[in-house]
Amino acid sequence: MSTINSRDVQRNIIIHPNGAITLLGETDERSSVDEEGGVQGTTTTLRIATRDGHVLRNGDIALQCTNCQTGPWSRNAMTTCAACRRLVCIPCAHQHPVGILCTPCHKAVRKAVLRAWLWSIV
Ligand SMILES: [Zn+2]
Ligand SMILES: [Zn+2]
Repeated sequence: MSTINSRDVQRNIIIHPNGAITLLGETDERSSVDEEGGVQGTTTTLRIATRDGHVLRNGDIALQCTNCQTGPWSRNAMTTCAACRRLVCIPCAHQHPVGILCTPCHKAVRKAVLRAWLWSIV
């Protein structure tokens, strides 16, 4: 039987504005001494797999959509709204002549265009 005499766990955690927590990765280092006095070390690193199929490395950031709250996403699956600058996932991004818009901004622009068009015909 070996005895664990040292353990070092490092966690990288993001706390999002809505209170959600994303674990970016965890390093768990253990050292033990066996009967002959030899020291054995084990290092385990947990990595986050994102919904779009990426595995994040140390330093990569897991992202969450500010509109539909899904995640974790890699940077590749995210875009920035041209109007409000929030990060949104691709399903929440809409092509528009002014640029890519998030769902709320896209709805607001369409409403404003519709209102302007209604005013123009009365
Ligand atoms: Zn989204
Ligand atoms: Zn927006």
